[in-house]
Amino acid sequence: MSHNDEQKNYESAKTPRAGQVKEVTSLANPIIKDLRSLTVKKYRDQQKIFMIEGLELIEDALAQGWSIKTLVVAKSAKGKIDYEQAAARCFARGGLVLEVPEKIMGSITRRDNPQLIMAVFEQQYHDFNAVRFARGDVYIALDRVRDPGNLGTIIRTADAVGAKGVILVGDTTDPYSLETVRATMGSIFSVPLYKQKESDFLNWSKQFKGLVVGTHLQGSVDYRSINYQSQPVVLLMGNEQQGLSDGLVSVCGKLARIPQAGRADSLNLAIASGIMLYEIRREALPMDERTVS
Ligand code: SAM
Repeated sequence: MSHNDEQKNYESAKTPRAGQVKEVTSLANPIIKDLRSLTVKKYRDQQKIFMIEGLELIEDALAQGWSIKTLVVAKSAKGKIDYEQAAARCFARGGLVLEVPEKIMGSITRRDNPQLIMAVFEQQYHDFNAVRFARGDVYIALDRVRDPGNLGTIIRTADAVGAKGVILVGDTTDPYSLETVRATMGSIFSVPLYKQKESDFLNWSKQFKGLVVGTHLQGSVDYRSINYQSQPVVLLMGNEQQGLSDGLVSVCGKLARIPQAGRADSLNLAIASGIMLYEIRREALPMDERTVS
């Protein structure tokens, strides 16, 4: 659909007519069955779509140009939340707006206390080979990240520090699972995501004219001693159980260690990522004058 068509549809659909909203009351309805299947990665991947819950997140996604396919609203939402704009956008994209009892809402998202509104959006992955790196750019690459909470937190932190993207290397947890999306608190809509097989990442790194910084418990340098400013940086973080693979270690220009004093074996992956990202971006993030004594 062209942008003009979409705009026309949007204008004419600003106030959704009651007839356009499809009321569904049965769990056996095939649309509901399809929606329920989206809690399983295989089905999300097949259709390249995912679910999000809550009006705030839905409006965030729409504001950032993400494509909505379906909006599902609980009957009890009427008069409690103002979803008219979201519904109009959904109609404008040729999407479906469903009204369902709250128990169906809970069965779709597998929650006892479901939100009153949820939506289905198209997934987005960007082309890593098309990235043009500039000095000051920071990307974070995650080797086989397993935990959805860690991944969501890292995407959120990457957003907070102004990183340019998150690169998922190897077989990782799904960034589009409900749990990860929730943990990103909306940052999934503003941080570009890239997917790379380990072998592709290794090949790419051979021609990269920047610094790949790996993090490792046996890292050879203290993370505060590295010059991150003179070239683009790709920060590589290891898997929660196994750390960085040997292959990935071998392409790191620097291998950084965050010192530890206590008895803990290692830091949590998301915490270590946060420490590294803030150090790398230290000079790019202006000091807040109000806090300078
Ligand atoms: N058992 C794993 C190992 O031996 O590497 C621990 C992995 S740790 C939970 C997950 C990742 O967080 C590591 O691969 C590394 O990227 C980062 N990390 C955690 N603590 C770190 C530290 N003190 N210095 C550098 N990186 C660290």
